[in-house]
Amino acid sequence: MTPEFNLIHQFFTRPTAQTDLSIGDDAALISVGNGMQLAISTDMLVAGTHFFADGDPYQLGWKSLAVNISDMAAIGAQAKWATLAIALPDINDTWLAAFSQGFFACADQFDVDLIGGDTTRGPLNISVQIMGEIPIGKAIQRSGAKVDDDIWVSGNLGSAALGLVHLQNKTHILGNALPVCLNALHMPTPRLGLGVALRDMASSCIDISDGLLADLGHILQASNCGATILLEHIPCIDYLKQDLQNARTQHAILAGGDDYELCFTAPKTKRAAIQMLGNQLGLPLSLIGETQEKSGLHVMHNNQELTISSKGFDHFG
Ligand code: ADP
Ligand code: MG
Repeated sequence: MTPEFNLIHQFFTRPTAQTDLSIGDDAALISVGNGMQLAISTDMLVAGTHFFADGDPYQLGWKSLAVNISDMAAIGAQAKWATLAIALPDINDTWLAAFSQGFFACADQFDVDLIGGDTTRGPLNISVQIMGEIPIGKAIQRSGAKVDDDIWVSGNLGSAALGLVHLQNKTHILGNALPVCLNALHMPTPRLGLGVALRDMASSCIDISDGLLADLGHILQASNCGATILLEHIPCIDYLKQDLQNARTQHAILAGGDDYELCFTAPKTKRAAIQMLGNQLGLPLSLIGETQEKSGLHVMHNNQELTISSKGFDHFG
């Protein structure tokens, strides 16, 4: 277990008495009657860690909500309500107007109501709690993958990570790829329609926030199986695809994080239905490998197994 997950396990995980699904998944589940469960999750964005303090406030407002809606998508819940706890160094009307516009643009697009929160003075810090609904028994948990399931990924991976590396001046993205990568980093699209549609197709699901290997690793650990994936089958923009031999490119695709795409497993019998769903949603869904009994997550490239140095982002790694 990585340090971050170790500390959550050691200090904050204990048995619960009135909860259907507690710590360990993308959202918790509680029964609220009417055959429905409430799905709840929270994600915090800290200046200097998750975003540049002088970054665009509209994009920050969008992203604060989007990354939370992404956790609803990951469990297959319909996002409905959010609360916003925000610490601000001072009152800046221009900043607040843009931030709230971005937040509500996302709320409007995904039909989420902002219903409360908390406001204090302090170093810029944004903490959103999201709540959604799902019929009892329909949630797609991390623990549901079976041996010999297909492993799927939505959209493209690695663009957001590449955008970040560019902003850190560690690389220089040329041409059309630059706006694509910066948009992926700043304005992620939560795959809510996909998550809801996968309720009856996927055996497990997670949203990729910390990198494919780390997040798929959570599915494998919870489901007690291993997997092999093929690097050349992982969807990414041409700019990255042309450069797959490069260790930095491999890292962006496999471990970069901030993609907010869904990684899910499904029985092979669902293959045609999933391909059709991708067509209906206008969202590419790519088959990247399969689960297996043999433990561990193995990444193949040109028929050889890659040795991976970093699996993804850990706040205390
Ligand atoms: P995600 O990436 O989907 O936001 P994580 O993988 O980071 O979720 O978190 C793993 C699990 O640990 C989640 O179920 C989350 O709710 C829980 N968790 C994280 N931090 C804490 C905490 N301080 N106290 C209780 N639960 C926590
Ligand atoms: Mg998540």
